[in-house]
Amino acid sequence: MRRRTFVHTAAVAGAGTLLAPGLAFGHRRADLVLRGATVFDGTGRPGREVDVGVTGDRITDVGTNVAAGAVEIDLRGLALAPGFIDIHSHADLSLLINNKAESRIRQGVTLEVVGQDGSSVGPWSDARFEQTREQYRERYGVEIDFRDPAGFLDRMDRERAAVNLATMVGNGALRRLVVGNEDRPATDEELSRMKGMLRDQINLGCVGLSSGLEYTPSGFADAAELVEMASVLRGTGYPYASHMRNEDDRLLAAIEETLHVGRLARVPVQVSHLKAQGQRNYWKADAALRLIEQARADGIDAHFDRYPYTAYATGLSNLFPSSLRSGGSRAFLLRLRDPDTAARLEKACREKVALLGDWNSVQITSTNDATSWARGRRLGDLARERGVEPYALTLELLEANGGGVGMIGHGMDEENTTKILAHPLGMMCSDGGAYAPYGPLSTGSPHPRGYGSFARLLGHYVRDTRALSLPSAIHKITGMPARKLRMEDRGVIGLGVCADLVAFDPTVVADQATFENPHQYAVGIPLVIVNGVVTIRDGEHTGELGGRAVRGHGGA
Ligand SMILES: [Zn+2]
Repeated sequence: MRRRTFVHTAAVAGAGTLLAPGLAFGHRRADLVLRGATVFDGTGRPGREVDVGVTGDRITDVGTNVAAGAVEIDLRGLALAPGFIDIHSHADLSLLINNKAESRIRQGVTLEVVGQDGSSVGPWSDARFEQTREQYRERYGVEIDFRDPAGFLDRMDRERAAVNLATMVGNGALRRLVVGNEDRPATDEELSRMKGMLRDQINLGCVGLSSGLEYTPSGFADAAELVEMASVLRGTGYPYASHMRNEDDRLLAAIEETLHVGRLARVPVQVSHLKAQGQRNYWKADAALRLIEQARADGIDAHFDRYPYTAYATGLSNLFPSSLRSGGSRAFLLRLRDPDTAARLEKACREKVALLGDWNSVQITSTNDATSWARGRRLGDLARERGVEPYALTLELLEANGGGVGMIGHGMDEENTTKILAHPLGMMCSDGGAYAPYGPLSTGSPHPRGYGSFARLLGHYVRDTRALSLPSAIHKITGMPARKLRMEDRGVIGLGVCADLVAFDPTVVADQATFENPHQYAVGIPLVIVNGVVTIRDGEHTGELGGRAVRGHGGA
């Protein structure tokens, strides 16, 4: 990677004063001036050679005539973009384990939108709060002192991270608290309690409702319940974001359900990580895109997001249908061996594997230490090596880990992935967590998207395969998600906007993380600024923690 030498002038007293947006800045010397880059402003417009001045946490000058700043940075030969927004992130509590957000900030992410797939950090019951607190205290030395997403936002303001954080509220979290883990409809009383909690969380700054309908207990909500829940968002502009009930054989019905929720609740929709999974369903990608286009023509504010890989990550238990996993992990494990249910479970699992391809389409990621021999391995190869039948190995791993085994499913089409990423209604997300190649976040074999997604979009899909243009790719990870989440002052480069900025070298930027060796930082991103704070300089983390909670306007 080419390195840049940054030119610093002497620090000037008085620089760094926070200015309110919308003031005339010309008379004041900027703290930081970024010169010589091709600036992509996040709206999708082509790049322009302008300079950008930053004062305090805001962009205070954009143009060809920017006066000298207290610090000058030479970015000739680089592209400069708004900080990247990950509209479907699983960084969540790992930002408390390592607040440098290493795998994220080094690919240019400056805002994580967490609380996805129906699974936000709370609201928790007393028991679940105690359990989470105990687990984080013991395992990471982290003290959890909040019990809902709004409390998490407050915590991120008190104890900064390198990246900004916004959060949705998960219907699964609400359902677990109010209804429990049972597969039954919520009563009217339960539904109104869940709606009240959602309303409170939105009014405290959360930016949408997520569901994860392939997971329990989120998926125990039927469409009517989801419409009721989503209707809390009406008028706020915040989306109902859904990891849908199905992404393979019943993909089109699942999209219909998601759009139906948006239509009846009259709220914007975000289809999470759109894909047509399993070879026999590849043809459905076009049909899925048509459905979403038609919904927009009918007046539904529908979009989708997608990560730039052809494999997905989930729990090994997701090889089994959610209807057979009700009642929590223990009940599920008992059912795997119960003669009344075992055969049905085995059949469903084998069908799911056949849908993906074969047993080698399943790659194990995380396990406990006792079964660490399975990490990173394909189930077919591993079973052969150990002289066991692959399904028997699956059961062995689930039982040895109390149900908690991570997996990667290799089951998507490259051509579809390109089409989905390039589609004008699509944004890009990582769907990944925050990791680091050292410390507690360095264990296991996570999906490489947690390290590589944004660099892979700009390197592989823009430069190498030319699937989409650079201005369009940048729009999909900056201005477009900011608008979807009604964030007025992020996602673009303009006067008064928060100074989240990324400089990268379009000829170098690339992901390095692989499925075999995931703990590797992206390259070609020498500078990242978060709220005016230089966090990556010359490709290295400065240790600065400029991130903060990003709250919505409420109004639910
Ligand atoms: Zn998901």
